[in-house]
Amino acid sequence: MKIVFSKYYTAVSPGHVFRADKFEAALKLLLKEGVVLKKDVLAPEEPSKADLLLAHSPGWVNKNLNFKFTAEDGAKAELKITRGVARAHLMNVGGTILAARLALENGIGVNCGGGSHHAFHDHGEGFCLLNDIAVAVKKLLKERRIKRAMVIDLDAHQGNGTAAIFSGDKRVFTFSMHGAGTYPEKKEKSSLDIGLRPGTGDAAYLSALGRELPRALDKFGPDLAVYVAGADVYRNDLLGGLGLTVEGIKKRDAFVFGECRARGVPAALVLSGGYAKKFSDTVRIHANTIKTGARFA
Ligand SMILES: [Zn+2]
Repeated sequence: MKIVFSKYYTAVSPGHVFRADKFEAALKLLLKEGVVLKKDVLAPEEPSKADLLLAHSPGWVNKNLNFKFTAEDGAKAELKITRGVARAHLMNVGGTILAARLALENGIGVNCGGGSHHAFHDHGEGFCLLNDIAVAVKKLLKERRIKRAMVIDLDAHQGNGTAAIFSGDKRVFTFSMHGAGTYPEKKEKSSLDIGLRPGTGDAAYLSALGRELPRALDKFGPDLAVYVAGADVYRNDLLGGLGLTVEGIKKRDAFVFGECRARGVPAALVLSGGYAKKFSDTVRIHANTIKTGARFA
């Protein structure tokens, strides 16, 4: 299975709860275990200005491309935006575009990164600057490679940026299952929001997913799904609070890939959040998700 990764994804911000080096660590684990071969790792291209403008305002695109951020931009995104960080976010957009293309070709496409679902049209939030999911979907819609897409966002936090960007766009169904009381405080309106209680746990989580996802897929009938597979649903996550076990997350992932495949819907995977107390747990969970995806490739 091909997997998308850029060395530029790894922009380390010492002391920050979001560790961008988790993506590289997950890839290394998969290479070591032979799940991924070195020749199958594809480096994405930098997205064009025109690509970014599909989902973002000219002002915000200019700031991102020309490194013109203000202190307020950094504060809103809760990031120290260095040149390396800006480049990482940019390259993640290229990565998700490539993963979505691979999904259309092969059934499954994997970006070993991505999932910046808190990025809005004209600003960043929650460790996200550019909404890679929205840019990739809009690009494939514009190229007429797809007519309808579904974003299946199972990160522990609502995909507020994605929901806002696609608000009123009948071609895109935004499905978000997340902690009702966690970040972001002010939720946007997705096509379908499923708010969960803190400490939901495997059984209740998988039951809600099993009830809602097949119905949404059947009703909407997308030509592409982007699966936002946040690892922060894990019970030892510092920011998620949903209480899933590693085994429960494996079941979640297998369910999503299985439901997509059963309907012939190509699935592009992006990894998104993950802030476990132990860094190695986050890395393991992301690697597991990709491993599960490989079973469906
Ligand atoms: Zn999250």
